[in-house]
Order: sequence, then structure tokens, then C-alpha cells
Amino acid sequence: MKFEDLKLIEPIQKAVDIEGYTIPTPIQEKAIPIILEGKDLLGCAQTGTGKTAAFAIPLLQMLYNDKVHEKWPRNIKALILTPTRELAIQIGESLGAYGRFAGLKYAVIYGGVSQISQTSMLSKGVDIIVATPGRLLDLVSQKYIRLGFLKMLVLDEADRMLDMGFSHDIKRIMALLPIDRQTLLFSATVPPEIMNLVESLLQDHVKVAVTPVSSPVESINQSVYFVDRKDKKTLLMKLLNNRGLDSVLVFTRTKHGADKLARGLVNKGIVAQAIHGNKSQVARQQALSNFKSKRTRVLVATDIAARGIDVQELSHVINYDLPDTPETYVHRIGRTGRAGMGGTALSFCDTEEKGCLMNIQKLISKKIPVISF
Ligand code: AMP
Repeated sequence: MKFEDLKLIEPIQKAVDIEGYTIPTPIQEKAIPIILEGKDLLGCAQTGTGKTAAFAIPLLQMLYNDKVHEKWPRNIKALILTPTRELAIQIGESLGAYGRFAGLKYAVIYGGVSQISQTSMLSKGVDIIVATPGRLLDLVSQKYIRLGFLKMLVLDEADRMLDMGFSHDIKRIMALLPIDRQTLLFSATVPPEIMNLVESLLQDHVKVAVTPVSSPVESINQSVYFVDRKDKKTLLMKLLNNRGLDSVLVFTRTKHGADKLARGLVNKGIVAQAIHGNKSQVARQQALSNFKSKRTRVLVATDIAARGIDVQELSHVINYDLPDTPETYVHRIGRTGRAGMGGTALSFCDTEEKGCLMNIQKLISKKIPVISF
């Protein structure tokens, strides 16, 4: 199937062409027609499958078609809820790209920064809001945001939102929305808590699933090194001697560990930066943009900060520390091998992490080949 077969309206198709997309990814092929029919949708897809475009493109198209008949003033017609500010910003960028000819206005709302630029954007009138739950509720209570005209709601990375403790906030937000709306819920995993959310929020929904979380993108080449904790840094340095590792995302368990490792790499002459929740918003954005533009070769990240990092042509993901939750491993390595491109995921496993490795292998139903160090 080609994008043209999805019968997108001209302003959107033109933007998709500029992005260089010709073939829709499986989630796009399945989800876009369903969303355009106005149905509720449960999308089971992880980061890297093209899920942002899968909801952003039809959402823009539907609002555009509405806009043609609608008069000023603008009101908020769509809300996209996300767990982190990085993801919110990236979704905002995608809306900007796919909607560049649609004339719709959007605002990205997240906490940890002054609200002034966000409220000034809102007071000019917007059609779409991309938001993290806390700041959204804050601005609702200050009456900068009214959700009574909402037509479309997207919950992105819903499993992550619940993991991060947003369940109560989500309930409060839902109570503010019109019942008569279209709801799209995207989640990489569908544990019982997500099913509860689906049952309470979606009506007559269609379920679309691609690449279940237990089978990471096939094109990713996975390996594991058994290494003592104290030797992990030496191993990383040895690997980085290979210039082929030109854009490397390294995961550590703790924020402190991320900082320490990035500092250690910089001391050895490797251009590296850390990204985690204790860094200021400006520092996080700066680190991300340096990494995207390849000014920084190595980005050291913790899981939450890395959520949704969308970097094309990421060559390697390195699990410096293995995650406790096996699903997190799948999320992490999904950062490479995006949209069908090949990638490499290397994991460092010390004696204490052998249990984590076993759980990961159980989840993905395969043994990860061992490379000796
Ligand atoms: P996502 O899963 O939304 O994080 O998207 C993963 C990456 O795939 C992003 O960098 C998109 O720009 C890219 N992408 C999305 N859809 C397509 C497509 N149909 N063709 C090529 N690249 C795509």
C-alpha cells in the first residue's frame, strides 16, 4: 500500500510527501482508515512503529475538514495526552510537520517551565493541545484551557502514563471532557489496568495491534556481554573505539549513574551528554537536539527521560545497566531499528543482572547471543 491509497486530503498528502514517507507503516495502514471513519481505537504499538503519524495524520485531516465549515473563535478540538514533556514536544513537532499546510494551531503544554509562553499561545486560540497531565490540569484550573468542545482525545503511551502514576490525573481530566467524542488510546503493552481504561473510555472500539511487545522489531541485532560491574566502563570505551558506533544511546539505571558515565566519557575525549529528570528542561532539550544533529555522539539516558526519544538513524542502543522490567528492554531497543531500519542493541549483564536477562529472554521468547569480552 502507498500513502496515496489512504486518500488523504491534499494539504496533508503534500506534507507527507515532504517528510519523504511513501509507504505507510503497518500501524498507519491499519489505524488511519479506522480513525478517519470516526471510530474509537485501541492501538497496540511501541515507539518506532510510526504510531505518532498513525494518529496525528487522521486527526489533522478530520479537524481540517471541520475547520472549513467553522468560524472564529478557535476552540480546543483535540487533546493529545502524553507522559513526558520530551514526547509532548516531539508530537508537537510531528503535528507541525504533517499539518504544515492545514492552517491549524496547536500548543504544547508541559510542566517544569514557566507557563507564560504556553498561556500566551492559548490565549491566541488553538485547535489542538499536546499536554502532560499535571500542567494541563493546572491550566484548566486557572481557566486558560476549556475542554468542553473537545471532539478527539488521544492517550499516547498510556501504559507509561499509568506506570508514572498519572492514573488519578487521567480520571480528573476525563471528567472534564464531553462524552460525545472520538477516543484513541495507544499503548505498547496492554496489562489489565490498561484494559480497565479502555473499557471506561472507549466506545465500540476497534483494536489494532502491530509488533507485539514480546517480539522486538525483527531488524534489530541483539547481543549481550557478561561483564563485571567494575569493567563496564572499559567495555563501553572499547566498543566506542569503533567509529561505526556513530550515534549511541546508552541506558543507565540511575540519574547519578548517567551523569557519572557521561562525565567519564567526556574525560576520555568522547562527545557525550546525559539526559534525565533532574536536568533542567533547557538542558534536556539541548542535549536531545545535539544528539539528533549528531554533534553529540553518545547520549546517556535514564528510562523516563528517554521515553519517546525519536532519533532517526540511531545506530546503537547500549544497555549499560539492564532494566528490572523486561518490557522496558523492548522499549529501549525499539529506539534503534526505527521504521524498518536496521539497528544494534548491546546489553551489559553483570552477575546481579542475570535474573533480569532471564526475564527479558522469556518475554521476547529468544536467547540473546552472548559476545565474550
Ligand atoms: P514513532 O513510532 O511515531 O515514534 O515514529 C518513528 C519514526 O518513524 C519517526 O522518526 C518518523 O518520522 C518515522 N516514520 C513514521 N512513519 C513513517 C513512514 N511511513 N515512512 C518512513 N518513516 C516514517
